[in-house]
Amino acid sequence: MSRSESLFKAAQTHIPGGVNSPVRAFKGVGGTPVFFKRGEGPFLYDEDDRRYIDYVGSWGPMLLGHSFPPVIEAVRAALDNGLGFGAPTGIETEMADLVCELVPSMEMVRMVSSGTEATMSAIRLARGYTGRDKIVKFEGCYHGHSDSLLVKAGSGALTLGEPNSPGVPASLAEHTITLTYNDIDNVRQAFAEIGDQVACIIVEPVAGNMNCILPAPGFLECLREVCDEHGSVLIFDEVMTGFRVALGGAQEYFNIKPDLTTLGKIIGGGLPVGAFGGKREIMQHIAPLGPVYQAGTLSGNPLAMAAGLTMLQALREPGIHEQLSAKTEYLTQGLEAMAKRHGVAFTTSAIGGMFGLFFTEQETVSSFADVMRCDAKRFGEFFHGMLDAGIYLAPSAFEAGFVSNAHTEAELDATLEAADSVFAKLAG
Ligand code: PMP
Repeated sequence: MSRSESLFKAAQTHIPGGVNSPVRAFKGVGGTPVFFKRGEGPFLYDEDDRRYIDYVGSWGPMLLGHSFPPVIEAVRAALDNGLGFGAPTGIETEMADLVCELVPSMEMVRMVSSGTEATMSAIRLARGYTGRDKIVKFEGCYHGHSDSLLVKAGSGALTLGEPNSPGVPASLAEHTITLTYNDIDNVRQAFAEIGDQVACIIVEPVAGNMNCILPAPGFLECLREVCDEHGSVLIFDEVMTGFRVALGGAQEYFNIKPDLTTLGKIIGGGLPVGAFGGKREIMQHIAPLGPVYQAGTLSGNPLAMAAGLTMLQALREPGIHEQLSAKTEYLTQGLEAMAKRHGVAFTTSAIGGMFGLFFTEQETVSSFADVMRCDAKRFGEFFHGMLDAGIYLAPSAFEAGFVSNAHTEAELDATLEAADSVFAKLAG
């Protein structure tokens, strides 16, 4: 029995499913989750001392590789002063100033401790600001696990939303409307009917939780327009895309200004940090300035701020995002060429340091329905073939992959070489 197998068995006694977040359990791909003990640069090391080239990057934060030395140093230095005071510190202002400089649509920002908290708070703020209850989101986008967001579409486009988890009250879910990603007509029709009741649209400007789906031309522009026409708040959930697809996030890349932005992952450099912010006029409604309540004992924690601030400062170095994009495209184009050579139906998507892998005959994959038509079983086989070869991909056909700037040509080529033999097996 490997150490991962025995650790996983032991974990299940007191941890539900043996994991602290469901996707880690390998449910979608089968098999035993790998237990890791160390990360360095593009590599993870498991409990059996096997080395993997990592394309999960802690689900996003490790844009500059694991154990990025400046971040580790900054946390070590902060550690000497204590772990947290629950009172203001100067570094929180430095962090806020830098975030607002890098993402100019954010005129004010509030720190929280996870992406879930960021989106939950932004939605409460949008509701409090507009005095409206309904919110619009898109099928296949994930915004964390707060009650209003764990909701699926009812049977028609504008029917009441239904909880997609037990424990979410139907009376709350009915305020969430779920539309089709990249479907402009669907958005316009919904807003023509009920736009004046909509507090906000929340959207992943690049969807990274149904594999990786780019916004269709005109889609984000349409969201901006309908929000302007109906007095609704446009929230870009940039927990995944923030500081990744460009230094200023997807909003910089696509040149669309949301009213509010939510951030997570990279902003904490690997420690638990999230943030939400945006127009001053809206943010002034948050307590203690305004009446919309939001708070956090651990918010702005000095270790987390030291990690995040150092990470964001490092990302300002010119050329980082260009290098990331080039590396990601090298990988995805190489994979596509290899699949083609072996006659495996396969396509990819890529933007900045994010990518998607799709086992499908479809030439483009642009909606949740398209993603659902992909061959998840084939993905599982590919995943395990790659894992055996020491390549750690996201253990789910519905998650984006992440390349870091610590990945060099050597790791990318080793990945392509491994894929060559896995595609050959899939074809055979
Ligand atoms: N929004 C998006 C776009 C995400 O990808 C995630 C997490 N994958 C979240 C929100 C929730 O963040 P957290 O897991 O930190 O609560």
